[in-house]
Amino acid sequence: MQPDWSEIALQPLYVFHAFLFSGYARHFWLYTICGIAMGYVVHRLSGDKTPFHRVLFARNVWLSRSALNDYGIAVINPFIQFLALTWVVSHFAALMQAGFALIEAAGVTGKVIGHDTILVSALLTLTLFVVDDFLRWGLHYIEHKVPVLWEFHKVHHTAEVLNFITAERFHPVEMLFLGIGFAIGATLVNGTFILFFGDTLTVGAVAGANVIFVAFNVIGGVLRHSPVWVSFGPRLERWLISPAMHQIHHSSDPRHYDSNLGGALAVWDRMFGTLYIPQGREEISYGIGAENSEYDSLTALYALPFVKAAKRLAGRDRAQGRAKPFKSK
Ligand SMILES: [Zn+2]
Ligand SMILES: [Zn+2]
Repeated sequence: MQPDWSEIALQPLYVFHAFLFSGYARHFWLYTICGIAMGYVVHRLSGDKTPFHRVLFARNVWLSRSALNDYGIAVINPFIQFLALTWVVSHFAALMQAGFALIEAAGVTGKVIGHDTILVSALLTLTLFVVDDFLRWGLHYIEHKVPVLWEFHKVHHTAEVLNFITAERFHPVEMLFLGIGFAIGATLVNGTFILFFGDTLTVGAVAGANVIFVAFNVIGGVLRHSPVWVSFGPRLERWLISPAMHQIHHSSDPRHYDSNLGGALAVWDRMFGTLYIPQGREEISYGIGAENSEYDSLTALYALPFVKAAKRLAGRDRAQGRAKPFKSK
C-alpha cells in the first residue's frame, strides 16, 4: 500500500480538522462551545472572584512545558497513526468484511423478519455505546494494572497541567492497543446485529460519533482536561463521570490512584470498586510524582516507555511504578 503524500502533509492539521469535523475528539467545536458555557456558569456560581478567562486560559497552563509537549504529541501522533495504524485498521476492516461476507454467504442474515428498523437501529446505537463505554473502563483498568501497558499509558498521566489538547496526549502504542480493543468490540456488536436483523440498520451519529457519546460530551466532555473544576454532585456522579472526576484520575495523590477509569458512565467504576466521588472541591496536583521530571521532552515521552517496558519485561524493574495489584477499598 503506497502512502498518499498529500494526505500525510495534512496530518499536522489534525487538531483543527478534528475540532471542525470529529465528534470523537474531546475538543470538537460543539463540546468546546458548550463546555466553556457550562464552565462559565459553574465558575460564577462557585463565588470565585477570579475572572473566568483567567482560570480557563491561564498562561501557566496553556504555555507550560507540559502543554507544549501536548501540542507536539498532537502534531506527531497523526503522522504515526496515518502511517502505522491506518495499515492495521484497514487490514482489520478487510477481515471484518470477510467475516460479514461469510455470514451472508451462509444465508443467516436478516433472520428476524418484520422488525421495526428504527427501533432496532436505536437498540444498536445504545448497545454500541454501552459496549464501547465498558471497554473504555476495562481497557483503561488493564493499562493501570499490567506493568508493561502502564509504561505506555503513563504518558497520559505525566501531564502536569490539563488543557483541551491533553486529551490527545497518548503514546502510539497505547493508541494501537485501544484501537484494536474498540474495533473488536464494535465488530462483535455490529456482527451480532447483522446476523439477526440484516445490514439495513443505521447507527445514530453526529459528526461520525455515536449520538449518545455526543450527548455525554456536550455536558462538559472538553472540561475533563482543563483547569476548570466542574462536578455533577455526588448523586449524579454515581452514574456519570464528571470533568472533576477525570481530574481526580490525573491526581498525583496516592489516595486518588487508579480511580475513575470510566469514559461516560460511572457504573463500571462503581461495580468494580474504582469509583471516587469528590465530596466538594479538591486541590489537585497532576502528574506521577518524582518520576515526572524524566518526561519533560518529546523524545523522552516517545522513547522512555519502550525503555521502561523492556526493563519491566526483563524483570529488572518490577518493584517500581504504580502498576501494582489493586488494593481493596
Ligand atoms: Zn489512566
Ligand atoms: Zn485524561
